[in-house]
Amino acid sequence: MFRIGQGLDFHRLETNETRPLILGGAVIDSEYALIGHSDADIVIHALADAILGAMGLGDIGQYFPDTDPSLKNMDSKLILQKTLDLAKEKNFSLVNIDCTLIGERPKIAPHRIKIQSSLSNLLGLPEDCVSVKATTTEKMGALGRTEGLGASCVVLLQKN
Ligand SMILES: [Zn+2]
Repeated sequence: MFRIGQGLDFHRLETNETRPLILGGAVIDSEYALIGHSDADIVIHALADAILGAMGLGDIGQYFPDTDPSLKNMDSKLILQKTLDLAKEKNFSLVNIDCTLIGERPKIAPHRIKIQSSLSNLLGLPEDCVSVKATTTEKMGALGRTEGLGASCVVLLQKN
């Protein structure tokens, strides 16, 4: 049995030389940083939501509320691990994922392989099952004005 899931996430972006920019668990060398209660890793947040969605188990807000002070600046890799543990409990394994980053800055192309490799390691999936892409909004809207960055992720799960 196969199950599909999709996740979306957006965070505000600011120029910040001290806060790291983390995408898909990879630290990206950039003048920009994403703002959030946790480390604001939009790729992992969209991915975890997609995995939960495929299993019909709600969203990461239920498991990791952004009002919980103990989760402040938390490493989103822990969110992913908890989600993968839930999938394992339910006898689901990941087949492949397809993620798209949405925004004008920073340019993703120079970092794409690093993000793909990080996700491949975190998920224990071969790199050709971990797609990372990027697009812009042609300078339209908030993302076009570099006010934020978005991520969309689709996953396929297989029941073992
Ligand atoms: Zn998020």
